[in-house]
Amino acid sequence: MKLTLLLALLLAALPLHAATIRALLIDGQNNHDYKSTTPHLKKVLEDTRLFTVDVATAPAKGGDMKTFQPKFTDYRVLISNYNGEPWSPETQAAFVDYVRGGGGFVSVHAADNAFAQWKEYNEMIGVGGWEGRNEKSGPYLRLRDGKWTHDTTAGRGGSHGQQHPFLLDTRVPTHPIMAGLPAQWLHAKDELYDRLRGPAQNVTVLASALSTRETGGSGEHEPLLMVIPFGQGRVFHTALGHNNGKDITAQRCVGFITTLQRGAEWAATGKVTQKVPADFPKADSVSLRD
Ligand code: ZN
Repeated sequence: MKLTLLLALLLAALPLHAATIRALLIDGQNNHDYKSTTPHLKKVLEDTRLFTVDVATAPAKGGDMKTFQPKFTDYRVLISNYNGEPWSPETQAAFVDYVRGGGGFVSVHAADNAFAQWKEYNEMIGVGGWEGRNEKSGPYLRLRDGKWTHDTTAGRGGSHGQQHPFLLDTRVPTHPIMAGLPAQWLHAKDELYDRLRGPAQNVTVLASALSTRETGGSGEHEPLLMVIPFGQGRVFHTALGHNNGKDITAQRCVGFITTLQRGAEWAATGKVTQKVPADFPKADSVSLRD
């Protein structure tokens, strides 16, 4: 065999993208069954062939948090599937330094319930819910005349109505995460987080959904996909992705999958190189992957 032919065959066998982005997925405590979602999230990210994903599992409730010391700086992006007890002060400081210094962070669903008392964490996620959040946590983000405004009305931070499929509205079609996505798509049955509140500084709402009164919701457009700068770092916040134990339907939605894959790449690099998949949901039909 000629050397040139051998070389051509070798090149053809290489994946289109070499997986070069090291990502760390964090779990260990959650009010959702994270053991059902962590393997799924890892596969979703690795399916892009852009990421290699390690998992860092914090101690279970009541465990010794001092032992949880992931080396964040080994990674380009951290993805949190964690909602539980505070990490040690040292690990919190390392996390803040990491994102402030230019690291990427992705908050998935109930990760925005975590750490209600941790100032910098709430600045990163923009808005969050539950765990005692109220007007002292910051305003609600409310869509008024096409602009997201701060609503400081007193009240709880975080609630949701009945789970149902709902329509996502793209708000910033020019953002790299949203480029090429439809103006509206039907998201699979999920919890529609509403009334989130927090510092809400420099939040760009990429997509929202109307939380209808009929489903027990707020009657407002709720921010569900967001990006927030933190120091030199980039944060992608998806409030989507509830799971009922082993039922992870909401995370099987191609809309959830695509925006997570793109959001993680953007958080890591500031760019999105991924094409919109052919099975992306339409405004009138849900699209799920196995
Ligand atoms: Zn949930």
